[in-house]
Amino acid sequence: MNSYLRKKASMAKQAFKQTTGRKRQQLDNKVYKLTVRRMETESVDALMAEVERCQNEVQEWKRKYADLEIEKEKFYDEMKNEINKLGEEITDLKHVNKDLDAYVEALEQKETLKCKGKTLNQSRTNLNKTYHIEKTAGEYPGASISFTSTLREHIKELLENSPELKDSTIQVKLSGDGARMSRTTNFMIMSFSLLQLNESVMSPKHNRTVAIINGPEKYATLKASLSHFFREVNELISKGTITVDGRDVQLQFFLGGDMKFLLMIMGINSATADNACLWCKIHKDDRWDTSRPFSHYNEDPQWRNLEEIKKMCRSKDNFGCINEPLINMPLTNVIPDELHLLLRITDKLLQNVIDEVLERDAEEYFSKTMGQTKGIHLSKLVKVINYLGISFSIWNKKNVDGSESQVKEFTSLLGSQKKKLLNGLPSKLSEVLYPDTCETVQQIWTDFGTLYNQISDFSFCKTAANAIFVQPKSWVELFFSLKGIRPGYTRPRVTPYMHTLVYHIPFFVKMHGCFKKFTGQGVEKNNDEAKRVLFNKSNKWDAAKDTVYTESRQWDLKHHERMKGQYTKRKVEYWNTEISEIRKQKRACCVDSPDTIEDDDIPTPEVNLTNLSVKQLRELIKEKGLRPKGLSKLKKMELTGLIEKA
Ligand SMILES: [Zn+2]
Repeated sequence: MNSYLRKKASMAKQAFKQTTGRKRQQLDNKVYKLTVRRMETESVDALMAEVERCQNEVQEWKRKYADLEIEKEKFYDEMKNEINKLGEEITDLKHVNKDLDAYVEALEQKETLKCKGKTLNQSRTNLNKTYHIEKTAGEYPGASISFTSTLREHIKELLENSPELKDSTIQVKLSGDGARMSRTTNFMIMSFSLLQLNESVMSPKHNRTVAIINGPEKYATLKASLSHFFREVNELISKGTITVDGRDVQLQFFLGGDMKFLLMIMGINSATADNACLWCKIHKDDRWDTSRPFSHYNEDPQWRNLEEIKKMCRSKDNFGCINEPLINMPLTNVIPDELHLLLRITDKLLQNVIDEVLERDAEEYFSKTMGQTKGIHLSKLVKVINYLGISFSIWNKKNVDGSESQVKEFTSLLGSQKKKLLNGLPSKLSEVLYPDTCETVQQIWTDFGTLYNQISDFSFCKTAANAIFVQPKSWVELFFSLKGIRPGYTRPRVTPYMHTLVYHIPFFVKMHGCFKKFTGQGVEKNNDEAKRVLFNKSNKWDAAKDTVYTESRQWDLKHHERMKGQYTKRKVEYWNTEISEIRKQKRACCVDSPDTIEDDDIPTPEVNLTNLSVKQLRELIKEKGLRPKGLSKLKKMELTGLIEKA
């Protein structure tokens, strides 16, 4: 009401100020009446009562608040108690847990359950993180690790294991090899091994891969992708030492690999070019000529050297030098590989035998009456080779359009199979070859076998160099003594490997003694290992990197290798003879096709049924064309009975 009146008064005052004279008199006559009804006012009594009520309320709140204080205290105590109790329980649990932990650990150790699934994956990833693997340069995918530090690590290990080598020069063999892995993957692998490990150089474990490129086997690829690796190698070669644990260790480098790779790295033209020998400037037309003395191709002016290759590759008159060598390796330390020597030369020999057999078959077929079976001698040859325990077959090469051509192809054999062939085939050759020249061919085979056994002997020494020159020389002479009589023994058929065998291998024996320690067998096994990684363990996205990783892990974990299971061969007879018989039979079963001719000259060995497993017996029954009821349920005795009856 007051504020209302104040408002009204100020309005009147304002109006009064703004008027004068008569108008002000008019204003004087105006009256404002404010009416207040009884019910619109409040009595003092009522207000007093309200205040009292509020005071009471406050009193009540104060009392309640005191109660709350007590309540809070009570709750707090209860909570404290509860917490203590829980704490006790946790310590109890911890104790129990410890026991459980120990129990689990004991179990794991007992059952070798440790490291499964995720944990294994995790430790692999962690281990991978510790390696420094670099992507190689160039357009093709590839991976490499530092050559210098890996080499240092390996030398350190070698010196720890054989302290007697402390002051000697460590021999390092670098190997390069191209390996076709699958239709789309072609690996070029650079690896190294320490030669002082002697016989274990054959083991892939001591062959450490340092770089892998997934690309075509070409000079340009190598140069672009591995520039870093080659720089490291060349630095070490020129320095001649490496610091291991603060001491300088003397180094001597060698380079090995198959001929194609060696020629490529050293910048020489391919093996089919005019001057295709890596070590000398011999023309391919002179390769047959073994009348030159041993020193002729191993001394100036025929012998190549590094400086000369570097100079020649820039000129026109280059004797096959087409590129700058990628590794500054003196040619005396570039070693031909005995394994590839064996493979390539036996390939040639086998090709010649097959050609001769084909010719004989064609001739006999032509002169005989109709109805004669074609290719008697060829199928006999295949049978003879199979009988040696080698899976082998010959087929017509397919043309691009899928039709058969007249060109024959045959199974490419592994090193171990070639050795078997060298030992077993010569004595059987008389069954398939022309009788008049058979003896010479046999001699070629056996002589090469003896030669190979000699050069792959670990106890071979420098003094044998002269003998090892005379023998291959007369062997090559024997080889082309058949020229003009049989095709395949002509002068151009003397391959670079045969020339190497006569002139350069004796040279290397003279220089370095035993030749076998340079073998590439470890490298080949390494390639197989890479293949295994590619197909079984990698997602193929970056196969080169996966392979390098796997090998690094294997090197680091080498002391944790799984022990080989022990097996005692109880039945000596079985392991010496019977097993090979059984395998031969199995192989014969696979190879035999319906159109092969039965031949009585080769005795089919007696099958000892008791040695066969139930599965083998069932297969035998099926092969014999028997279809007894419930074959899958018959017992071994019943099965053998059936076969004997048949
Ligand atoms: Zn040569």
